Amino acid sequence: MNERYLDANHRKRHERRKRAATVDVTNSYLGLDEINAFLQNVTRSASAADVISSTIGLSFEGRNTPVIEKAEIIAEKGQNIRERNTKSSGTQKKAIIIDAGIHAREWIAPALALNIINKLAFNPDNDPDVLDLLKKFDWIIAPVVNPDGYEYSRTNSGARLWRKTRTSQYSESCKGVDANRNFGFGWDPDVGGSREPCSDVFSGNIAFSEPEARNMRDWLQRNKGRAAAYLTLHSYGQYVLYPYGTCDNRVADNKDILEDLGKTFANALGQKGRRYSVGNSCQVLLLGPKRPGQGPVPSQPARPSSYQWSSTASLTTSTPQIPTPSNG
Ligand SMILES: [Zn+2]
Repeated sequence: MNERYLDANHRKRHERRKRAATVDVTNSYLGLDEINAFLQNVTRSASAADVISSTIGLSFEGRNTPVIEKAEIIAEKGQNIRERNTKSSGTQKKAIIIDAGIHAREWIAPALALNIINKLAFNPDNDPDVLDLLKKFDWIIAPVVNPDGYEYSRTNSGARLWRKTRTSQYSESCKGVDANRNFGFGWDPDVGGSREPCSDVFSGNIAFSEPEARNMRDWLQRNKGRAAAYLTLHSYGQYVLYPYGTCDNRVADNKDILEDLGKTFANALGQKGRRYSVGNSCQVLLLGPKRPGQGPVPSQPARPSSYQWSSTASLTTSTPQIPTPSNG
């Protein structure tokens, strides 16, 4: 076989792998097994970045919680990435940290996270902006942080709108905790949560009682000091929310930066005909005058959630964090 033949074969294999990795993730909601298979494929065959997949811990039902620990541009192909990390630790790039899927039914959030991973790993459109983002930042992405709830909402008839985890430690008949109400910042079931296991916003009996919230806490703490930004993806509505949602006049130190970033994001989406509201979650969800195109919001404040906890306890040294609900 001559070299030209081998090159053509190599190209064909490369294109096949690229297609196999992109088709499902961009066109459908994947099951957890498919998500794990996609991530394995990404680590094996990413063509635009070096990617390591790992886990942030086990869920209540013992499922792995997958994470892309690093997506870095292939500039030094062939060099062992762990070796490179060690060598370059003094000048390590800041990271964009993203999670999705803490609320089981918000399927578009994991789908968006997977599409971000797909773009970074394969850059299917050869977009120079993607290369630029890979040059400037590391990317650490956990696409399904509530795997039990996600899988339950996908596979059980009548459970499409399941929101919580699947813990049975409080009640056999009313399973699950709203893991986004289980973080240790201003934890208070009476403000924006509930003490009732049957409630959709049941907060657990103490902060960080749930493995899913603890997994996120430990994962974020492991990356303390590395974050340039932290985004948590939801699809409750078309909002860009930032801390704090405590409705007690507490203001984020970097509030002006967050507001600017949020408006930039909202303006970019506005050009595609999407209207997003920007503000801290108390202003927008509780006190805000209108949902985009709709009436007042009959909602609870989104109080002890992951991004508010992160901005106080884990990622305090970092610059902007901007939780970003996706369109849904
Ligand atoms: Zn949500």
